[in-house]
Amino acid sequence: MTVMELVNPATAEVFADVEMLDAAAVDRAVTDAQRAQRSWAGSTPASRGMALRAFAAAVEAHRRELADLEVTNSGHPLGQAMWEADHVRDVLTFYSATPERLAGRQIPVSGGVDITFAEPIGVVGVITPWNFPMTIASWGFGPALAAGNAVIVKPAEWTPLTSIRLAELAVESGLPEGLLQVLPGRGDVVGEAIIGHPGIGKVVFTGSTRTGRRVMEQAAQSVKQVTLELGGKSANIVFADSDVARAAATAPYGVFDNAGQDCCARSRILVQRSIYDEFMERLEPAVAGVRVGDPRDDGTEMGPLVSRPHWEKVASYVPDGAPVAFRGSAPDGPGFWFPPTVLTPQPDDRSVREEIFGPVVTVQAFDDEAQAVAMANDSAYGLSGSIWTENLSRAMRVSRAVASGNLSVNSHSAVRYSTPFGGYKQSGIGRELGPDAPSAFTETKNVFIAVGPDPQAEGTS
Ligand code: NDP
Repeated sequence: MTVMELVNPATAEVFADVEMLDAAAVDRAVTDAQRAQRSWAGSTPASRGMALRAFAAAVEAHRRELADLEVTNSGHPLGQAMWEADHVRDVLTFYSATPERLAGRQIPVSGGVDITFAEPIGVVGVITPWNFPMTIASWGFGPALAAGNAVIVKPAEWTPLTSIRLAELAVESGLPEGLLQVLPGRGDVVGEAIIGHPGIGKVVFTGSTRTGRRVMEQAAQSVKQVTLELGGKSANIVFADSDVARAAATAPYGVFDNAGQDCCARSRILVQRSIYDEFMERLEPAVAGVRVGDPRDDGTEMGPLVSRPHWEKVASYVPDGAPVAFRGSAPDGPGFWFPPTVLTPQPDDRSVREEIFGPVVTVQAFDDEAQAVAMANDSAYGLSGSIWTENLSRAMRVSRAVASGNLSVNSHSAVRYSTPFGGYKQSGIGRELGPDAPSAFTETKNVFIAVGPDPQAEGTS
């Protein structure tokens, strides 16, 4: 039996271990999932909706327990982890309305009646990363269960605990055994077994673009549907006609939330040259004001990085002699602490082009709107971004011109369960969340029913 030791990122101490499963476990899980899915899809829409609301209530009742697990396993600040548990509850509640609303269509045709059915795919695999373990799992399993599927989740090796607990809560709240299963294991073992399994009809993958390419290649072998949510290198564009004080005060929270381990991190700040000096003067105290510390404290805004290997990757972007404009603070001692860091590099520096996935932001100047849009779009990614301007026309023009799936004007809005989320270009394929997400977990079946003439009517005519 292989075991993964789990490390508390704030203390660098091992606090638990988890058995790592193998491909045979995936086979068994698929058999159980297929059985559970048949009974789930066969139950009434109203009872499925109620079951999802009961699951949401169980998450609500255990929100502090789930949050504490995430604080210890992932180093997330307590307030953020509570938000994450509540978000899982909200995702389940939102999609609990789906079973009674997942309607097909009636399409006008000659010679009969044509109707479509939104049928469940069957068993869906959900492979998640370590940065937001429970919320990202719920973006897959919430709408997938609501559409009548069973779900098998493969959490990231470093952070499996909240997903494991959520699957227990699903059973405790009354969902059939086997309907939502969590299989901890390595990506190249359990993850690949899920993608290759003939009994699994769709894979939702969230993670790096590099692994996403591999997932897509492997899924192609069995012509499996995929949704991919991948990396980002999003721009925060600050125009001279914006509320500069607010743009500067909020910029740290657009990139340093979750210690920058956020695919939506606005990790490239682009500032109009005429306000560059003023913006930097205002940004420095805002960065110094980010409260970095013990994730168990209520007031903490930023915790440690998730692991030692990830700390080393992030640190490689700030070598000796790096163009550091200024930095915030971070605790000394054990734990994978990294201070919020602001760089002013050359445009071709790797810190400008690559996803760092840590609390490091670059600042560059632009001259006009056209250059701002060109710089924002000069990336292989297109996931998120923010636009700061008081000019409504400019806000609309730039929103339409930036090739990105999720933009905020005069804010760094977080992901909402009720609106679609996903990326352009190499940030992914498909959309999660929002009103249409359950459709991504269905097959459309078209049925034509021939309607002949009334024989009695024929006889009398
Ligand atoms: P990885 O791509 O390394 O891993 C993601 C998941 O895939 C993990 O569960 C991993 O397992 C698994 N995996 C690894 N190799 C394979 C394989 N060959 N087949 C199947 N599964 C595999 O990403 P990280 O966990 O490092 O997450 C960080 C990345 O995720 C960042 O690039 C970030 O931008 C992106 N991300 C994107 C989001 C979005 O919505 N667009 C949201 C959050 C993160 P294991 O743990 O064993 O390696």
